[in-house]
Amino acid sequence: MRSFSYERVTDPRTACAAVAAHPDSKFISGGTNLIDLMRLEIERPTHLIDISRLPLTAIEELPQGQLRIGASARNSDVAANPLVRKRYPVLTEALLAGASGQLRNKASVGGNLLQRTRCHYFYDTAAGCNKRQPGAGCAALSGANRNHAILGASDACIATHPSDMAVALTALRATISMLSPETTTRDMPIGEFYRLPGTTPHIETNLAAGELITAVTVPPPPPGGQRYRKVRDRTSYEFALVSVAVILAIEGDNTITEARVAFGGVAHVPWRSTEAETALRGRPAIPATYQAAADIAIEGAVGRGDNDFKIQLARNTLRHTLADVAATTDRRSS
Ligand code: SF4
Repeated sequence: MRSFSYERVTDPRTACAAVAAHPDSKFISGGTNLIDLMRLEIERPTHLIDISRLPLTAIEELPQGQLRIGASARNSDVAANPLVRKRYPVLTEALLAGASGQLRNKASVGGNLLQRTRCHYFYDTAAGCNKRQPGAGCAALSGANRNHAILGASDACIATHPSDMAVALTALRATISMLSPETTTRDMPIGEFYRLPGTTPHIETNLAAGELITAVTVPPPPPGGQRYRKVRDRTSYEFALVSVAVILAIEGDNTITEARVAFGGVAHVPWRSTEAETALRGRPAIPATYQAAADIAIEGAVGRGDNDFKIQLARNTLRHTLADVAATTDRRSS
């Protein structure tokens, strides 16, 4: 690991001023991903700004019924929060499916959103990787790509986004709040926050240089049942092969009135399927509808060899999760 200087800040504006004053600096909070990257010299900040003590840990209900989650809130605290558990169970399920208990105790909400891919070639500094070194090629294209993307990938990068939490937040239509070094604030829907790889896979989000994530705001919970299902090689401390967040509301006559679908483990970003949502709304809550939604959600998916199995796995995971949510969701009277 290369040497670096360090400072701890206790105010968001001071944090932004510090990052502006040090061009090669990085924010660090839980450090659960950054420290590994620094040890491998994939990240080489000359200065670390410790934002773990910022007063951004509150999880509070807003007057219009939204839930604002501070960016420094620990993943374990969000998962256990009574309001989150009651109103956004899909978020609690996603957080509990991610990482280990120790990591959840350390990892922050902001850090979870910004964690880097777990593509093993990204961490192997002997391998060509456009994300680590633009123009170096992509070893995964012709290499071991069992964990890689089937949707939205490019010939420059087929990595997947590793966050479970971000998949649930995508289904919940969350908004991310940011503070710039110029101390201006802005909000961005999570659906616009992440970038597909295209020809620039090293640029993963639309966060500007020096911007600090300050909070995530989740709208009032949509009607219906919620579920997060994660399929992985082992039941703990493992990233998703495929995951899906589903929210489904069904009227008393068995008509689906609202549907939200987002996948993890299949793309460079948390993958919202508007096609599946459209295929579900207004249709009867029956297996044929779930199958049609699963088929259209995965239309256009491309396997790269080792990961071909994910195409059918993603279909099956969505179909089964839709059926599960429908079976356990109260029908509302019209
Ligand atoms: Fe690098 Fe992306 Fe290729 Fe992995 S898939 S080796 S992260 S360019």
